[in-house]
Amino acid sequence: MTIRLENVSFRYTQGIEGFFGQEQILQNISFRIDSGEFVGIVGPSGSGKTTLIQHFNGLLKPVSGRVLIDHKDITGQKKIPGNIRKKIGIVFQFPELQFFENTVYDEVSYGPRNLKIPGNEIEKRVREAFDLLELDFEDFRDRAPFHLSEGQKRRVAIASILVMKPEVLIFDEPTAGMDFRGVLRLKSFIRSLKNSGRTVILVSHDMAFIAETVDRILCLKNGQLIFDGTKIDFFSDVPILQKANLREPEIVRLARALRQENIPVPFSITDLRGMKRFLEARLKSENSFKIR
Ligand code: ADP
Ligand code: MG
Repeated sequence: MTIRLENVSFRYTQGIEGFFGQEQILQNISFRIDSGEFVGIVGPSGSGKTTLIQHFNGLLKPVSGRVLIDHKDITGQKKIPGNIRKKIGIVFQFPELQFFENTVYDEVSYGPRNLKIPGNEIEKRVREAFDLLELDFEDFRDRAPFHLSEGQKRRVAIASILVMKPEVLIFDEPTAGMDFRGVLRLKSFIRSLKNSGRTVILVSHDMAFIAETVDRILCLKNGQLIFDGTKIDFFSDVPILQKANLREPEIVRLARALRQENIPVPFSITDLRGMKRFLEARLKSENSFKIR
């Protein structure tokens, strides 16, 4: 699926029908995301990231500009076609707050049941989603969602999106509020989506994780798109990082420091493995490298 925004601007309504707030939340934003891309959306808190992603499947409508999904303009549509909602899955921040079923199975199968998909097909999908998220089917199916650990809840919430078989998966701060082990597990799941053929869009504050996973970065500041390009160009651009008030990951900082010392760094500045191999080789060769 391609997601295309053309000059999208947005303001939140102030509750009264037809009356918009003064504050422009998104300003004249244009870009296109193609099938299979792995895109990071970054920017300081309050810059409009969560607002932006809700335009991708019609949850929010622009005040001006257009949103096109697979070249079809969905901007003026009163009701967004079910297949768009189904194919573009958003895992919101703290999705477990919206649990309402009594068992994990009912929670995860809610979407497909609503679509009147036959029961055996639903169970097949639920099993697949459980497998992907390392949830044991027999163990978890009858448990109460509210009584799971935070990490388990988050995985159940993601499973409930995966059962819809979305072509586009959007994660909004997926590791927020999780413990260290939960974070590691979730990161490894998101990493595993890389060559799955799906489009993955990752909104995150974790710049090291962004540097490691995505290919392309969109950066927002005060509702404006201030960067759209490769992650290498993004992390090579010190002014843009400063402008967006974002911390550069350690790996990028180290690669930059080496280059400033005129030490050639034969790998991209976000390549953790490349850095490791490079340091090992340098440390082995005598006297060629001093760590100060
Ligand atoms: P981010 O996800 O980058 O932190 P958001 O999209 O959540 O940013 O918020 C962007 C701006 O919109 C903020 O100023 C925020 O206060 C405002 N905002 C977010 N949600 C609402 C809402 N439901 N009603 C009014 N203003 C909102
Ligand atoms: Mg947000």
